[in-house]
Amino acid sequence: MKAEIIAVGTELLLGQIANTNAQFLSQVLAQLGIGVYYHTVVGDNGNRLADTLNLALQRSDLILFTGGLGPTKDDLTKETIGKITGKTLVEDAQAMRRIEKYFNSRNIPMTENNRRQAQVIDGAHILPNDHGMAPGMAFTYGNQYLMLLPGPPREMKPMFQKYGVPYIFSLMAKQKVVHSKVLRFFGIGESALEEKLMDLIDGQSNPTLAPLASEGEVTIRITALADSVTEADGLIDDVEKEIQSRVGEFIYGYNGDSLATVLMNTLKEQGKTLSLAESITGGLISHFITSIPGSSQVYRGGIVCYSDEVKNKLLGVPEDVLQKEGAVSAKTAEILAKEVRKGLGTDIGLSITGEAGPNPSGHQPVGKVFIGLDDDAGTLVEEIQLSGHREGIQLKATKHGLFMLIERLKKG
Ligand code: ATP
Ligand code: MG
Repeated sequence: MKAEIIAVGTELLLGQIANTNAQFLSQVLAQLGIGVYYHTVVGDNGNRLADTLNLALQRSDLILFTGGLGPTKDDLTKETIGKITGKTLVEDAQAMRRIEKYFNSRNIPMTENNRRQAQVIDGAHILPNDHGMAPGMAFTYGNQYLMLLPGPPREMKPMFQKYGVPYIFSLMAKQKVVHSKVLRFFGIGESALEEKLMDLIDGQSNPTLAPLASEGEVTIRITALADSVTEADGLIDDVEKEIQSRVGEFIYGYNGDSLATVLMNTLKEQGKTLSLAESITGGLISHFITSIPGSSQVYRGGIVCYSDEVKNKLLGVPEDVLQKEGAVSAKTAEILAKEVRKGLGTDIGLSITGEAGPNPSGHQPVGKVFIGLDDDAGTLVEEIQLSGHREGIQLKATKHGLFMLIERLKKG
């Protein structure tokens, strides 16, 4: 694919600003393996821009424009490109909403020519502007591709990285291989993870890194573009190694894995059995595990010890511990884990007790959870403080329990 970058702006010709947009785009395109053959600069003039475009259409497959998407009269990139390619301009509803929001949030009245910024080439793929108003756009013209980006670098760069590169990927995927791998994290929040990987997320285009958070877990999708799957895997491996070295302790699985499947497989590999004493999660951990076919090989069963009575009568937590330390305490978690393991004769016993809310029932705050784990190496108790509503707390507590087991098994 032969690419050409056309920077539009009289300021560039007058030497008032340097064409750093072309430099940036060339660097990113080079990372994608796309050769840039021409940098062209043209002033804010319709006829000369039309000539420039006609010439580019004779020699380039991918033509990228920057500048002239703004609201003023001298911003004529869209109109000129529309004229040459025979496309009309239409108002993009989403872009219009963004522009209105932009003005509303700043409490300044919108002028009619701001509407011009929401105009896009009919049928184009829209590249949202997260840092300004004028959206970018990309479209196919015959078997050539045109992309229009705004002039201000602080708008153009993130737009190109976040929306332009994936669009180019999708074009190239027709000839090349796009391969991706998902890394699954637990025990680290999305923002903490992004902070640790910021330079990788922002700084590179092949592979790209896309973080996503849901239900207390974070994933990162690594996507590479290459001539073959092997080559793509090689690119992915390199970034993954870097990620492993920074935040490897939080990675529990890959692609379609879940905490429960990883736990199941690890227990099977190590030939270990598990039993559970669940209070706060009311059987949710058991449900996650038993949803997996074949879990009976490693999972003996569990006791939902929801009331103090069950904790005391079936699992031997002494009255005075329940009175003095409380049902939601490290001591109770420890005894529950030991007793359920002993009672069911398993290699590992896990207990979980906590305060799910909405109102605290004892002296512990809502969201306080104790997880006990007993195995040949001894007894561990983890104390955590969760936030959210009742169901959310139960789900997060469940995941913490599963993750604690995985971590323990990993250490061997
Ligand atoms: P606006 O909405 O701000 O008018 P625009 O898409 O119309 O954006 P221009 O009016 O062409 O873009 O340029 C706006 C500013 O962006 C310029 O004053 C300059 O600071 C910067 N800029 C434009 N083109 C380039 C370039 N090629 N390299 C670096 N900076 C540029
Ligand atoms: Mg402008």
